[in-house]
Amino acid sequence: MKETIGFPRALLYYYYYPAWRSFFESLGQTCQVSGKTTKAVIDSGIRVTVDEACLPVKAFHGHVLSLSGACDRVFVPRLVSVEKKAYICPKLMGLPDMVRHNCKGIRQIIDPCIDMSRNSRAYIKELYATGRLFTRNPLKISVARRKAKQAYEVFVRLLQAGLTPIDAMAKQDFHLLQYFRDSGTSCNTLSRHDEDVRSPIIGVLGHPYILYDSFLGMNVLDRLHLMGAKVVTMDMLQPAVVEQAAAKSQKRVFWTIGRRLLGAGYYFLMPGTVDGCLQMSAFACGPDSFIGELLQQESARSKQKVPFMTIIVDEHTGEAGVLTRLEAFMDIVERSMLR
Ligand code: SF4
Repeated sequence: MKETIGFPRALLYYYYYPAWRSFFESLGQTCQVSGKTTKAVIDSGIRVTVDEACLPVKAFHGHVLSLSGACDRVFVPRLVSVEKKAYICPKLMGLPDMVRHNCKGIRQIIDPCIDMSRNSRAYIKELYATGRLFTRNPLKISVARRKAKQAYEVFVRLLQAGLTPIDAMAKQDFHLLQYFRDSGTSCNTLSRHDEDVRSPIIGVLGHPYILYDSFLGMNVLDRLHLMGAKVVTMDMLQPAVVEQAAAKSQKRVFWTIGRRLLGAGYYFLMPGTVDGCLQMSAFACGPDSFIGELLQQESARSKQKVPFMTIIVDEHTGEAGVLTRLEAFMDIVERSMLR
């Protein structure tokens, strides 16, 4: 039977929705994404979560609640690990339990456990178990799995070609091959000498669910564009560049996104890569608190300083305050470019 699967537009939706959508659509299901984050969504999430939860987790709950009545089941995966010897934040590991406990009106949750830390067999078993909710035909599930993998690979290529996840998702629907033919490239190791040398290049760090959510991220990417800056996020860098820079850390960071943030941050703070580095962080985020500290230390150590600023967002952050800080930051960047 055809069902509607609800996808909260929050947390790792920004990385994995293209693959998830492809998987469920290949099995003949309809995908329904919650609307954009608004104050009402955040407020409803805050009402059902504990105070200690970080803002993105509160927002996730708000998105789940907004799907109530609009779908047959809500997709809330238990994300443990997406690569060997590295893990996702524990709050994402416990997400299905939190949602079940906090969102009473939600009828059914699909919660496969994604754990690739040891081998891929357990993960494949989970995919088949999820597929069997809709078909008894293993061949169909196998095709859905292959299509999801292809969709994800194309999505990653688009990110590395310089698109944000939002733009990449839109591009995936339209004229994809034409896009690659026109752009002729799939990677972008940064070079300040490429083009547009007068525009400041700002490296922006942050979890995807903050940066690309215009409400949580206070539209920072658009604001920087409007201020004349060229923006580069960690997702636009080649993984090898990020890994190489992250290896500078004395101890390997075992959080997947934390390690990427640190690597991209170290790379952005190298003189000659970008003109300024901005970190967007969530209040009450454990991994961000020490990544931010390590980057502050790196910035302080560097002789040829790249301007570096951290903005911490929570449910009380106002746009006016963020705008003032951004303007001051861009003034510093422009002055440092004159040196
Ligand atoms: S990494 Fe930080 S912001 Fe993301 S879910 Fe964990 S605590 Fe929240």
